[in-house]
Amino acid sequence: MKKLFGACYYPEHWEYERIEKDAEIMKSLGFNVVRIGEFAWSVVEPNPGEYDFSLFDRVVDTFSKKGIEIIMGTPTATPPAWLVELHPEILQEDEFGHKINFGSRRHYCFNSQIYRKFAKRITEKYAERYGSSSAVIAWQIDNEYGCHNSTVCYCDDCAREFRRWLKRKYGKLETLNEAWGTVFWSQQYRNWEEIIPPRHTIAGHNPSLLLDYMRFSSDSAIEFHREMAEMVKKHSSKPITHNLMVNFTEIDYHKLSKELDFVSWDNYIPGNYDYQLQGMNHDLMRSLKKSPFLVMEQQPGRVNWKGVNEHHQPEQLKYWIAQSMAHGAFGSLIFRYRQLPYGAEQYHSGLLNYNGELTPRASAAKEAFETFKEKEVLFPVKETAIYIDYENFWIDTTSGLNNNYTLFSDGVFASYKALRELGYNVDFVFPEDDISEYKLLVIPSAYYIREEFLEKLPKFKGKLIITSMTSSKDKYNNIRLSVPYGLEEILGIEVVDFGGTEMELDLAFNGKRFKGRFVVENLKIVDAEIVGEFLSSGFKEFPAITQKGNAIYVATIPEKNLLKELLISFGLEERAKDDLELINFKEFSMLLNPSSEKREIEHDGKHIYLEAYCWKTFNPFQVGQ
Ligand SMILES: [Zn+2]
Repeated sequence: MKKLFGACYYPEHWEYERIEKDAEIMKSLGFNVVRIGEFAWSVVEPNPGEYDFSLFDRVVDTFSKKGIEIIMGTPTATPPAWLVELHPEILQEDEFGHKINFGSRRHYCFNSQIYRKFAKRITEKYAERYGSSSAVIAWQIDNEYGCHNSTVCYCDDCAREFRRWLKRKYGKLETLNEAWGTVFWSQQYRNWEEIIPPRHTIAGHNPSLLLDYMRFSSDSAIEFHREMAEMVKKHSSKPITHNLMVNFTEIDYHKLSKELDFVSWDNYIPGNYDYQLQGMNHDLMRSLKKSPFLVMEQQPGRVNWKGVNEHHQPEQLKYWIAQSMAHGAFGSLIFRYRQLPYGAEQYHSGLLNYNGELTPRASAAKEAFETFKEKEVLFPVKETAIYIDYENFWIDTTSGLNNNYTLFSDGVFASYKALRELGYNVDFVFPEDDISEYKLLVIPSAYYIREEFLEKLPKFKGKLIITSMTSSKDKYNNIRLSVPYGLEEILGIEVVDFGGTEMELDLAFNGKRFKGRFVVENLKIVDAEIVGEFLSSGFKEFPAITQKGNAIYVATIPEKNLLKELLISFGLEERAKDDLELINFKEFSMLLNPSSEKREIEHDGKHIYLEAYCWKTFNPFQVGQ
């Protein structure tokens, strides 16, 4: 794909006479693409079977004459009122049996065959209309699957499909009963009809059922996507994508990305701003298909969906675009082009104000677009990797050892931050990936590791850091009889007992004190060296960190600074100062300053100064070492 810069545009929200003027303004801002159409079902099909594409015909025609191309979104995230009135059974149902009402969006069930029929029909109508248009360069199917906790539905349609999914997986009911351990609490099933979704109960559900229901729910979203994509492919050969989300783990994005021609995602700040968190999401998106990605929606400033929708400086937008390009994006579309005074997103900022006038955000976007437009797509070199498997995020939600612990933030993000603060590039690797080119791999609390990945680890020549609870579960979400399963030989240890901990535990490594958190394990040393010890009373006899050859094991959840110390002990350098982003490419490195303060770094005996929200390129660090 060529470099794409533009915005998400909703011509249906304004007087239609404005289209020509908007095209002029967009051209002046350096746009070469807009995304349109993804929430416009009731405009295009105002009554069942009555279609009116005149608005989008006019947009496509006007914009193509200006040299602005189109990413066409299909509108199935917003089933219109007439469809819900006609078929209320398409609505999702929550765990308490309540229907999710019309009045917002994403209210449909992925497993409603009635909904799929209507969704395929409108998707095909879009594809028929614009499949041969040279102005339409790509398709976005639906919008943000799973947003607003809509991945999992508990309705009768889902119950029926879940049983089919289970029959395909287990074949015989006896196999399922044994795998799930249903003899516990008298849950043995005599026939498939007795199996229901994990609806509200007064105590905990069977962890095996919970994990399979999450797998099933993720598969349901992916199957829905596949059916819609088939409708588009009947009429168009253009690439198909879907816009993924920040910090989102309910759908297996690695599996979904196999259905996408390129990955795109929506870059929003989910909580308190942390540039490393946005960077991690970019790196994850790049890692899904090991190729450049598109930022389909870039937050321009204030949003509408947080408890406090903060103001952001326009210069930050310039930084956010630059950051995405440095992490491997091939384009950026601002959401949204113009602020809208009505509707649920009325507080969301845009490049244009409510009155249609340009804001300083438009100048900031234009400046960033111009900087990157003519440059090659940047692709960070392979240096270090973090192992993830979406199923482990699901196991994490069912794990009762320490509910204060979250794999995503306390395990994966802490590891990412430690590596990035030292200035190393990070890729995410999945079970099927080749890991041989990485100099270092971190496996943070991967509860379940598939056999295909376990087999790669003894052959891995790089350094390895593995933290507690790794390989403690099997594919059914049951605890392994020997932990860490399949890694005993590499690590030279056995976990003989474990517990959660409320308090942080002191431990010593390299003559310094650090904190372990959430979990503490009692290790039996078989063939490893103890390199770190717990200091807190009650745990003093427990080894905290062990090493065997190139593999380190940490018998707790290490704080970020401990991870950094472990990395340095493994030979990694402190290439970057805190609060600066360093990204390494084959020919050069890039240093970005995410803060509102001027900063400096010493490199090669020289001081490099960076203005607020700015970046510089220079000769690379010795990335091969
Ligand atoms: Zn359902």
